[in-house]
Amino acid sequence: MTTRINADQIINTFIRYTTINTTSVPDNQQLPSCENQYKLAQLVASEFADVSDIQATVNENAITVLSLPANCPGMPAIVFFAHLDTAPDNANDTHAVRVKNYAGTDIVLPATDEVIAVEAFPELLNYVGQDIITTDGTSLLGADDKAAIAAGVEAICYMLATPDFKHGDIKLVLLPDEEIGIRGAKALNVAELNADFGICLDCCGIGEYVVENWYAGSAKMTFKGVTAHPMSAKGKLVNALLIANEVINALPEAERPELTEGREGYFWVNKITGNTVSASLEIALRDFEIDGYQNRKATLRSITEQLQKRYGHENITLELSDTYDNVKAGLDKKPEIIASVQQAMRNLGIEPKPLIMRGGYDGSVITPAGLPTVNIFTGAHNFHSTKEFLPAESLRLASEMLLEIVALSAQKVTA
Ligand SMILES: [Zn+2]
Repeated sequence: MTTRINADQIINTFIRYTTINTTSVPDNQQLPSCENQYKLAQLVASEFADVSDIQATVNENAITVLSLPANCPGMPAIVFFAHLDTAPDNANDTHAVRVKNYAGTDIVLPATDEVIAVEAFPELLNYVGQDIITTDGTSLLGADDKAAIAAGVEAICYMLATPDFKHGDIKLVLLPDEEIGIRGAKALNVAELNADFGICLDCCGIGEYVVENWYAGSAKMTFKGVTAHPMSAKGKLVNALLIANEVINALPEAERPELTEGREGYFWVNKITGNTVSASLEIALRDFEIDGYQNRKATLRSITEQLQKRYGHENITLELSDTYDNVKAGLDKKPEIIASVQQAMRNLGIEPKPLIMRGGYDGSVITPAGLPTVNIFTGAHNFHSTKEFLPAESLRLASEMLLEIVALSAQKVTA
């Protein structure tokens, strides 16, 4: 098959985007949570400023929409999604390093002498003879998710340069703050995109694609105690910290992140603060089944009611909120989306590797909002780590995947 995306060009595009540090800031409630997400959004939009076929908008939340109108009537409208921010882990400015013609040995990161060892990451050997992008060791790489921005941009550039390539309405949408609660996708007006389906590029090695993720929510509990000097506390002191501890003890012991895998859900106690007078507790809830997810919320309600009976209704509160949904229900309604992802991979000589994701992505919010959105590979490994690396050919093929899925949708129209 013909090569549509140029490896050097897409790598240069990707590295250009990694130079803007877009680390999201969980404690900042503004959207975007850091100014540099605007800067990256504006850089990408500016690259199409002189292209009359492309309409580019960046809104006050840095939500960016690049629109390429259809050149063939009747073809599906498709949205490519990428997120602007990078994870709050290893948040320094990124200095990308290109390892040319990888020889199959350990990779030493030049600024820190940290080693990406073949023994620890044997998947490196799949990329012998290819170029691999790493960092200098002082930060994460940010292929999560700037590789996706580069893949979307280069796919659009190809379509612009190749008028014979048939496509429906194509949009590239860049979203802020995926890493800190999928906030950008929640602020997106999905109906306005007026599309048939979406493709996020926000997962792992070549060939991987997400067929389901889990339902996610969070609980915040508060506890009010009664203060008393410990020397004369008998019968008076009610210790808020110990009430919080009662909740922890009431949760099923085996259902913790460290004791679960695959399709098993959990309660994750992830924050406790306070003193004897008042305390608060935060718990994340995860389950692949909607019934299981609802049962987890019911468990917390029941624990709360028990405690309220003992300590007073006004002294114990529970606040539950939903974070995102399993995409499976939405994707099952349009099986042709996953089918075309699989066919595109086969056409490009990539082995399809379906993935059950113990996490969420922008599509976990966008799919239940009405636009079924699958998640496919960027090609990168070791997300959020200084050992994050991106094989150049995997990134090139991620961009080819977008074009191949568009091309397959054209065949359906002509057939
Ligand atoms: Zn991501």
